[in-house]
Amino acid sequence: MTGRWAPSPTGHFHLGNLRTALLAWLFTRSASESLIWRFEDLDNAVRPEFYRSQIRDFQRIGLDWDGEPVRQSNRVGIYRDAIGQLAQQGLTYRCWCTRREIREATSAPHAHLPEGAYPGTCRGLTRQQISQHEASGREPALRLRTQGEVVKIQDRQLGNFEGAVDDFVLCRGDGVPSYNLGVVVDDADLGVTEVVRGDDLLPSTPRQVHLFGLLGLNPPSYAHVPLVIAPSGERLAKRHGAVTMEDRLSLGESELDVLNILLSSLRIEKVVSFGQLSERVKVFDSTSLPLAPWIFTD
Ligand code: GLU
Repeated sequence: MTGRWAPSPTGHFHLGNLRTALLAWLFTRSASESLIWRFEDLDNAVRPEFYRSQIRDFQRIGLDWDGEPVRQSNRVGIYRDAIGQLAQQGLTYRCWCTRREIREATSAPHAHLPEGAYPGTCRGLTRQQISQHEASGREPALRLRTQGEVVKIQDRQLGNFEGAVDDFVLCRGDGVPSYNLGVVVDDADLGVTEVVRGDDLLPSTPRQVHLFGLLGLNPPSYAHVPLVIAPSGERLAKRHGAVTMEDRLSLGESELDVLNILLSSLRIEKVVSFGQLSERVKVFDSTSLPLAPWIFTD
């Protein structure tokens, strides 16, 4: 059994990220699984200092992982192979839509489809339309051709979840493989059997499970955990106060205090030393975790 922690190095962690990291670690270690660290660094906003600070802050709350951190940016070849496999099965098509066009076309709600679902504008283009798009010089994205499949998942925390799969992007116009494609190829290639992540990603999970099937791969089990939100109801962000490890240290708190803030938010007994975390692992019970978001008040 293998778990993973897969952050995008596009910023310093805040308490919400660290809380999800702690949960990924607790689920994994309590099942005596190994934990892989995977940097999802195909994004343009990646910066070198964030790789370092994310690893440091993870360690500062007493967590560890196994092996060398993996970087998606070093693995682009395997994503291209998977895209090639799908293209060979006739399961891809090119799409020239802009974000704005998609937004406008999807303003009418579609039953079951996830937010921002693609309405299929480019899936049946005529030869003439394709030539016109090609002449525009704009590089197309590559999308998956779906048939309105509805995928059911059994989430360890949230129970049954059902969602329709849209023609989501496999490869962006600039040649960068998409998040959904990278996650699926990597989780399979790295032998991940258990995914623990924020519940903001739940709507994408049917897409990912569908893609596992098309590539002939087995999906992992999923546990989606609630996010941390500000009193306004927004997802926690920098502007909501002392939310990073550095912010908390500058308030005079210790790294252990930060760990204890996170443990308390999960209704897990505080620790007096990092060593005591191993005792919490032994009695960790995912069924007693809060299911509602944690409202952070500074
Ligand atoms: N890289 C994603 C994030 O930082 C997480 C992806 C995943 O866990 O599937 O939100």
